Amino acid sequence: MRRTRTLAGIGIAATALLALTACNSGSPSSPGAGTGGEEGGGEESTWFEVATDVQLEGSPTFDAIKERDKVVIGVKEDQPGLGYLDVTSGDRTGFDVDIARWIAASLGYDEDKIEFKPIASANREQAIVNGDIDYYVGTYSINDKRKELIDFAGPYFVTGQGLLIAADAEDADALEDFNGKTVCSATGSTPIQNIKANFPDIKTQEYDLYSACVQDLIDGKVDAVTTDQAILIGYAAQYPDDVKVTGGLFTEENYGVGLAKGDDVLRTHINELFTDGGDIWQAIFDKNLGSSGIEVEQPAVDAY
Ligand code: GLU
Repeated sequence: MRRTRTLAGIGIAATALLALTACNSGSPSSPGAGTGGEEGGGEESTWFEVATDVQLEGSPTFDAIKERDKVVIGVKEDQPGLGYLDVTSGDRTGFDVDIARWIAASLGYDEDKIEFKPIASANREQAIVNGDIDYYVGTYSINDKRKELIDFAGPYFVTGQGLLIAADAEDADALEDFNGKTVCSATGSTPIQNIKANFPDIKTQEYDLYSACVQDLIDGKVDAVTTDQAILIGYAAQYPDDVKVTGGLFTEENYGVGLAKGDDVLRTHINELFTDGGDIWQAIFDKNLGSSGIEVEQPAVDAY
């Protein structure tokens, strides 16, 4: 395998990111908002250094990307702080989205050569198997069942299953507190699988999207929403008068980048990017989740 990357500007990229964080004091903004415009004649620019002369020989995914001259990335778009689309401005923000942009830049692709595709939890493996997307970055837990169909780079983030309840409800500290009650989660997600397999006395409501669960909670139709606490913290920040996070972490969820099974060249490339790019990881975290109260360090990637 022969592969070269030009990431000479990696330190500059981190500095630019940090500068953007300082400008925006934690409020997510679109890429380029803090850096583009002045010198580029209004041209969109990204705050990641875009690699040049990238060669990933033996990566079918990279071959497809080069062929169409565009990266297609699967994401979430209703998870504030992680993967979010502001439908009014068209801005995509969040930790996962910026991780996705960082990977694209490392492959030589700037924001204007990225197509983001929203894909719900239940449809991720199929989208990757079908080749509908080049990779997926969206609160996607690495597990053996999924690894039968796809591969993961990472992990790049660690959280765990948590609970979101009405702001005026009594705090809970165990999933069993919801025996006989209704808990909502997304179809195909690890939290709904956990409830169904291990908590038979909890009633479940499922939707494709967590935002539909949160709406049901606000409307008093369900007693709690359960998914990764990092996701729930984003909703609690979005609707502070209506909902709150309660209890601890009930599982460990390691987020990975979903990609085509057998594309070891791309998987290794992303794992090396994460391993070498601790400053950038930190800057992405600080920008998107720095004021969230989430305290987490970059996890070590799997051996590669
Ligand atoms: N991390 C969990 C999963 O991958 C829950 C979040 C999600 O559905 O994206 O299933």
